Amino acid sequence: MRIAVLGTGSVGQTVAVRAAELGHQVTIGTRDVTVTRAGEFAGWAAQHPEVGLATLSEAAGAAELVVNATSGSGSLPALAAAGAPNLAGKILLDIANPLDFGAGFPPSLSVHNTDSLAEQIQREFPQTRVVKSLNTLTAELMVHPRQLADGAHSVFVSGDDAEAKRVVTDLLTSFGHTDVIDLGDLSTARGTEMLLPLWLRLYGRLDTAIFNVKVVR
Ligand code: NAP
Repeated sequence: MRIAVLGTGSVGQTVAVRAAELGHQVTIGTRDVTVTRAGEFAGWAAQHPEVGLATLSEAAGAAELVVNATSGSGSLPALAAAGAPNLAGKILLDIANPLDFGAGFPPSLSVHNTDSLAEQIQREFPQTRVVKSLNTLTAELMVHPRQLADGAHSVFVSGDDAEAKRVVTDLLTSFGHTDVIDLGDLSTARGTEMLLPLWLRLYGRLDTAIFNVKVVR
């Protein structure tokens, strides 16, 4: 698949490398290619020539599947820059969390209870098939789940489009996930986004980000 990963941070880099390793054609999208090439990203990019770099609109326009790995507060502006026509009809795997660091650590959620960032994105881009997933895991575990408990832990998908969720589930399975739980429509992303306050406190407690929840039936 041609995949655009919007986001140059650790999530964007980690997902991009793994998808490329699995044979996908991957381009990372950023607001300003010149600025990004001149910054910290340059060292990483030099080690990963298999991953392209383009503007948000170029990356999204050329892709079959788009990953949102931008900051929570930057997601709507980043997707607006990617352009609604470039996102129309496409699957958007939304990994972002609506974290507000305005009052320091731990951050609060900028949207919660009766709404979610995923739903805000879906309302803004009604032609796009938004699937929320992977946002409850640290970047390394998103794409290499078997490094923890041999992969015996859970990941969730939320979305209104069954076919889009199937494509995302296949991608997750190719990463190594074995317990992908379809929570239902996109409003179920409220629950996974609201897992973040717990995740952040566990992170503080456990001194590692390599942990996850396992749903036991
Ligand atoms: P990040 O630092 O949260 O976000 C970096 C990206 O956001 C950059 O690509 C940047 O664009 C873009 N961005 C920031 N402000 C923007 C704005 N105003 N307009 C447009 N774009 C903007 O990176 P991250 O740590 O990799 O996290 C990415 C997302 O995944 C976040 O939503 C985070 O909550 C979520 N998440 C992270 C982890 C993790 O392990 N870190 C785990 C689960 C979920 P430029 O490239 O143009 O600078």
